[in-house]
Amino acid sequence: SNPTADLRAAIRSIPDYPRPGVMFRDITTLLGNARAFRRAVDELVQPWPGAKIDKVAGIEARGFILGGAVAHQLSAGFVPIRKKGKLPRDTVSLPYSLEYGLDAIEMHRDAIDTGERVILVDDLIATGGTATAAVDLLRRIGAEVVAAVFVVDLPDLGGAEKLRAKGVTVRTLVS
Ligand code: 5GP
Repeated sequence: SNPTADLRAAIRSIPDYPRPGVMFRDITTLLGNARAFRRAVDELVQPWPGAKIDKVAGIEARGFILGGAVAHQLSAGFVPIRKKGKLPRDTVSLPYSLEYGLDAIEMHRDAIDTGERVILVDDLIATGGTATAAVDLLRRIGAEVVAAVFVVDLPDLGGAEKLRAKGVTVRTLVS
């Protein structure tokens, strides 16, 4: 069977959420489907069998769920990239633009050592604003960003292209 078709069928689309005119891609149905969840994690890491990956960085909140499973699969550590104000020790942070206004993401300054090889994980890439800020943050603390991986790409919004233009290897499973 075609793995992409299985994953696509496991994702639910919600019209007019969170606002009128937006089609929200809901991956909770994929996470709740044992076959689809395993397949998504297996496919996300498929190019890196036996590669030495030190850390998997997951973006709050759905990137934590996938990222934890990916880290286990790669025998890597897990590092949370969080919304501002959630981490207790010294942080590095970077603002990023939302459709209206600014937000910021943060990680612990000591979460990654210089030169460590990191894979970034989130559920979905749209404009790429969040993932671009995460890559910049990881590079700023000296990480080598091996790849950024997402279950869903919204190619019309250009985020994956934006990341590739920054020299990032991008893997997505469903467009
Ligand atoms: P971007 O920064 O690329 O424009 O938006 C991506 C971020 O917003 C990701 O963290 C992702 O979880 C969230 N996001 C935006 N649109 C959707 C959507 O339709 N479905 C899901 N599951 N997440 C979305």
